[in-house]
Amino acid sequence: NNGSRLSMRNATAPQAPHCPASNIKVYVRCRSRNQREVKENSDVVVSTQGIKGKEVILKHGNTTKTYTFDGVLGAESDQESVYDGVAKDVLDDMLKGYNCTIFAYGQTGTGKTYTMSGDLQTNINGKLTEEAGIMPRVLFDLFGRLSKVPEYSVKVSFIELYNEDIIDLLSEDDGRLLKIYDDTNNKRSVVIHGMDEVYIKTPEEGLDLVKLGSNKRKVATTKCNDRSSRSHSVFTITVHMKIQDPIRTKTEEEFVTVGKLNLVDLAGSENISRSGATNKRAREAGMINQSLLTLGRVINSLVENSLHIPYRESKLTRLLQDSLGGQTKTRIIATLSPAKVSLDETISTLEYAHTAKSIKNRPQVNQA
Ligand code: ADP
Repeated sequence: NNGSRLSMRNATAPQAPHCPASNIKVYVRCRSRNQREVKENSDVVVSTQGIKGKEVILKHGNTTKTYTFDGVLGAESDQESVYDGVAKDVLDDMLKGYNCTIFAYGQTGTGKTYTMSGDLQTNINGKLTEEAGIMPRVLFDLFGRLSKVPEYSVKVSFIELYNEDIIDLLSEDDGRLLKIYDDTNNKRSVVIHGMDEVYIKTPEEGLDLVKLGSNKRKVATTKCNDRSSRSHSVFTITVHMKIQDPIRTKTEEEFVTVGKLNLVDLAGSENISRSGATNKRAREAGMINQSLLTLGRVINSLVENSLHIPYRESKLTRLLQDSLGGQTKTRIIATLSPAKVSLDETISTLEYAHTAKSIKNRPQVNQA
């Protein structure tokens, strides 16, 4: 009966086990210089420390600044090691019943989409290529692990947030905007009215939906320049599993565990600080600004253990509120260019990412 829809009636979802405060982990991924940066002779200002390194060293002029993160993935880290280092544990947590989110945050052109999606094609043997990113790898890994679960269902959704509008990337009805409502049954979550949620039975079916949604995003981008760098995309996998609770096996009682994983490719972080834009551009920049700024504030409030978390101040955080804070797991991958030409954006990304990690642990600055 694998892959069938499970009825949630009469099912008692066990509470996810209590987890310590390290619910938010922040990683940095720095690619090597691209052709343009090499051609322009733009100096390398960012260095990392190999596979297990946790520090990013930013050197410019006489200043050296060292930032520490939960993990730093340098140019030597391939797609598989990024998956193993960041996403694998999250999948474990999702299968235990946590709501989890992985964000890619960074300047346009630094590798957010490469990290989250990468190559979506399979080779002639039906296997993913080395260039496959987190989304395709999660799908294959998930179904591999579920093969040991007697009864489960998997559903996915894929939406885009542009100008604070929510667009369904899986809908046949192009251009239909979705509305968010508060969930009357659960004050921590929202209901997205009319969103397509598609049940999948194999990773290949999931991959086809990722391709479908990504292509829709691309088509919209060609119609409106810059759109992909200004929009956020959220691919969500929800798993229902019937498992026996180890503590209660004597009663043979079965439970349904529900886990959720959001894979979020954020708008380019340069939109957060864009100035001098006018009219429609200003409106767009301002709205993206709102979502990225609010996300930063929400994460900051969670790190600080604030009483008020400003989820409601942007669509993105409202949409993800059941997966941020409380019994959830969040991973942020901040992507960087190592070249001097991007220095200002790199500093802003490192500061944003560092604030998300801990406000107590400030970066070390050495003036030579
Ligand atoms: P973003 O989504 O941040 O705008 P992309 O993911 O589109 O950036 O990356 C820009 C280009 O750089 C793409 O051609 C991508 O394949 C390449 N790229 C990014 N990161 C890496 C990396 N770590 N290794 C190899 N190529 C990369």
